[in-house]
Amino acid sequence: MRPDLFDSLIAGPCSAETHAQVIQTAEGLKGLPLSYFRAGIWKPRTQPGAFEGIGDIGLEWLVDVRKQYGFKICTEVATADHIRAAAAQKLDMLWIGARSTVNPFTVQELAEALQSTGIPVMVKNPVNPDLKLWLGAIERLERHNVKVIGAIHRGFSVYQKTKYRNNPHWQIAIDLKQARPDLQLLMDPSHIGGRAALIAPLAQQALDLHYNGLMIETHHDPTVALTDAKQQLTPASLKELLHNLKPRSQNDRAQNDLAELRDKLSIIDEGLLELLQERMELSKQIGTLKRNNNSPILQVQRWEETLKSTIEKALNSGLSPEFAEHFIKMLHEESIRIQLALLSDQTDAY
Ligand code: PEP
Ligand code: MN
Repeated sequence: MRPDLFDSLIAGPCSAETHAQVIQTAEGLKGLPLSYFRAGIWKPRTQPGAFEGIGDIGLEWLVDVRKQYGFKICTEVATADHIRAAAAQKLDMLWIGARSTVNPFTVQELAEALQSTGIPVMVKNPVNPDLKLWLGAIERLERHNVKVIGAIHRGFSVYQKTKYRNNPHWQIAIDLKQARPDLQLLMDPSHIGGRAALIAPLAQQALDLHYNGLMIETHHDPTVALTDAKQQLTPASLKELLHNLKPRSQNDRAQNDLAELRDKLSIIDEGLLELLQERMELSKQIGTLKRNNNSPILQVQRWEETLKSTIEKALNSGLSPEFAEHFIKMLHEESIRIQLALLSDQTDAY
């Protein structure tokens, strides 16, 4: 990586799993200008029963990485106990995870525990798209004399399936940068993308949007990772990614704006497809009811009302009535096809 591309580079596994895994990953990262080597020691998991982190022993493994490779080390803290354990091992930086930033009580507890440690902190965005909550967490820490050195953009939870694991909502990160130009803004493409294939284009986007750095999950063998296996890169592919980053000029701003708008379109299109699938499922249920009750498939009055009200709603919302008519007719036609197929017992045909 050209050293002038980013100010900060954080890499290392999602979770510390074994001593050998942490050391092997660090060995692979040797030679990179890492600002910090990361590993999760206590893992917030969405569902219980999964691997919830190796606990305090993992801190000793991180200390070994620092001794053997000279990397500074960092981990996520979510309770005052985590902070005490991390401070005892003199970790060089701690970050607050998305599930903690979201809760002011948690941030308050962390701020109080961090106050006397002097350890610098980075704050990930909250899981929900709320700039004020992100800024508020940073301010709460600063009011306790915590040196907040950076904010990490890791994307925001989404219910509908999209291209990304967490929706980037680029504007929120841009607004944060504008509100706090004194802080480093890093992108965590691993948690935004959720898939190894998306990490490189996101990292390029981080460069294009003038982020100050990257946090990228790296595992010596992602196929056996206990957490976030799909999104972790091998050290070799991280090196390749960094090597392939292309510095861009201000002239590429239009390209960035275009990419951002296209991302938004893709998210909407994916949502539309999902809604269509849901709609056709309902249509099938209605078809089954009609079949069992011997009702006609086409109920003219209901159809005429639907058509009329769709066109009216389109007019009111500024959509072209021709488009709305075309669209609702297409939906209706497909529903009828599905319901007819039920009647002739051809349900397996699609
Ligand atoms: C992580 O970095 O492994 C992590 C759990 O991140 P987040 O808080 O962004 O989900
Ligand atoms: Mn992770």
